[in-house]
Amino acid sequence: MYEEVPKDLLVLIEDVLFNRNSEATERLTDAAENVKGKKKDKKDDLEWRAQAVEKRLEHALVKGIADFVEEDVEEARQRASKPIEVIEGPLMDGMNVVGDLFGAGKMFLPQVVKSARVMKKAVAYLIPYIEEEKRRSGRAHEAKGKVIMATVKGDVHDIGKNIVSVVLRCNNYDVIDLGVMVPAERILEAAREEDADIIGLSGLITPSLDEMVHVAKEMERTGFDLPLLIGGATTSRMHTAVKIDPQYDRGQAVYVTDASRSVSVVSQLLSERQRDGYIHEVQADYVKLRDQHAGRRDRTQRLRLSEARANRLAIQWDGHTPKKPSFLGLRTFERYPLDELVERIDWTPFFHTWELHASYPRIFQDEVVGEQARELFDDAQEMLGRIVQEKVIEARSVVGFFPANSVGDDIEVYADESRTEVVEVIHTLRQQSKKARGRPNLALADFVAPKDSGVVDYVGGFVVTAGIGADAFAKSFEDAGDDYNGIMVKALADRCAEAFAERMHERVRKELWGYAPEEEYSNEELIKESYRGIRPAPGYPACPDHTEKKTLFRMLEAEERTGVRLTEAFAMWPASSVSGWYFGHPEAQYFGVGKIDRDQVEDYARRKGIALPFMERWLGPNLSYEPESARPVKKVG
Ligand code: SAH
Repeated sequence: MYEEVPKDLLVLIEDVLFNRNSEATERLTDAAENVKGKKKDKKDDLEWRAQAVEKRLEHALVKGIADFVEEDVEEARQRASKPIEVIEGPLMDGMNVVGDLFGAGKMFLPQVVKSARVMKKAVAYLIPYIEEEKRRSGRAHEAKGKVIMATVKGDVHDIGKNIVSVVLRCNNYDVIDLGVMVPAERILEAAREEDADIIGLSGLITPSLDEMVHVAKEMERTGFDLPLLIGGATTSRMHTAVKIDPQYDRGQAVYVTDASRSVSVVSQLLSERQRDGYIHEVQADYVKLRDQHAGRRDRTQRLRLSEARANRLAIQWDGHTPKKPSFLGLRTFERYPLDELVERIDWTPFFHTWELHASYPRIFQDEVVGEQARELFDDAQEMLGRIVQEKVIEARSVVGFFPANSVGDDIEVYADESRTEVVEVIHTLRQQSKKARGRPNLALADFVAPKDSGVVDYVGGFVVTAGIGADAFAKSFEDAGDDYNGIMVKALADRCAEAFAERMHERVRKELWGYAPEEEYSNEELIKESYRGIRPAPGYPACPDHTEKKTLFRMLEAEERTGVRLTEAFAMWPASSVSGWYFGHPEAQYFGVGKIDRDQVEDYARRKGIALPFMERWLGPNLSYEPESARPVKKVG
């Protein structure tokens, strides 16, 4: 920052820039000679310690340095007439600087979370004094407002929610974080008890969209009028405008793009002066979105299910003999070597988690976020080193292969090679939109040899987790007021789980199923999935039905063997877990099922033995039509 360039150096530089005297160049190069070869070590650079205490606190907050904060806070406390003034004065001033820099795009999320850590340490130090003072004078610290945060029922992901909580807290909002898998009643009860100003909901998987609609309905029914913030991976502005907000007539639902936007949204919603204007703006936007949505003529032509089936991918099975896996049944891997996973990590999504948007490793050269990315990466390496060395998390998996054949859009799984007893049926969905000539309407079942072809084929499945122990380890940091490392641990456990899925898949191709024993790919090529075969995950576009995870887990005895269990919305717990099917045919590919018509949903519900309204609920995002069960749209203007 400009103000931080040492004054004497700044004069020399400005002399050159503004051509202020004829010796400017020489003087600057002389000065450069003097510092050449001196490496600047951030930790040892203590010049800032000579400043006044307020400046020191600001510096510590902006730079995220927690080493001296207690002594500085103590000094400030002794000078203040009341301990609370230290928070309301220098600490809040410092955090305002952080907020301004963040808002101006001059500071990034990882730094802000580090600043929060310093703030937390400072506040923790002051609390006993403040309590003491409160006993005497009855005056307490006033936060700017109270926000209830929760990941909705059935969902387990909380990295994004935790980041939002941290960012809001360090902007002097009181955040009550109810954690993950929180039912609507608990959220509303807490909001009432705590006299909250705002409720924030987070979710990662598609069933959470429905759960959020439910929370909105409950808020309406029980007379709430607080703003309702919506965020997380599957949520969107459109969904908030079309599905959630109309259920909540008394109050306003607001979609929040990412953590860095949360402060401005919350501050506008809680500001007497700005609230009405802001809500008006959001409302106008949502009305427009709803109109767009209602007026959007779905121009996609869809085929009848029978027509789509007639246009399936017709693999030539007579020229292909599927490879028999090296074993049939299940194999469990416990205490899987973590260093093998670390090599396979795909780092780009890690930076996305921290809202640094560029791809690895080019990100280090990025003009804007490069330096921050490097620092974050170094911290990640250090933590990963600890995780591997001290084995604080355990990686476990189960892999299974089964004799299987397709029958229509289903895949029959047999007890043994005699293929007489069907033990499980995997149900797949078929693309229904009309394709260009020569393009098939795909379903995963197409990648498995049909029963009537007489070809013996197989299907595989897996569940991997790198989450065992991760939560407890993250909590040890959170309890010590270190959210930065708490979030770091969770983000790294997620990365290890994905890397584990990649590593297992590689072993499946080369050795366990063994259809590509000679394969040699670099990590980059693996990340690009250049290999033969796929591992589609239930809940993702080729198989959007989350309920199929139940079949997968039953087939793999996954809960007993790995400790991973499914929530009522079919999220996996612990969070850092991945599951999916294995298809080995060279033509197997990822695709999106897209929107499907009622004829397919009815057929699918019948095949699965589930009542239509339930099936429609689970397939909500994929329906081409508005199911009868989810109609009432109240809000119009
Ligand atoms: N390298 C990434 C890997 C995860 S994304 C990471 O570390 O985060 C890729 C995975 O998502 C695939 O292996 C597959 O399991 C799933 N996937 C992607 N597209 C899919 C689709 N269309 N249908 C089903 N699953 C899909």
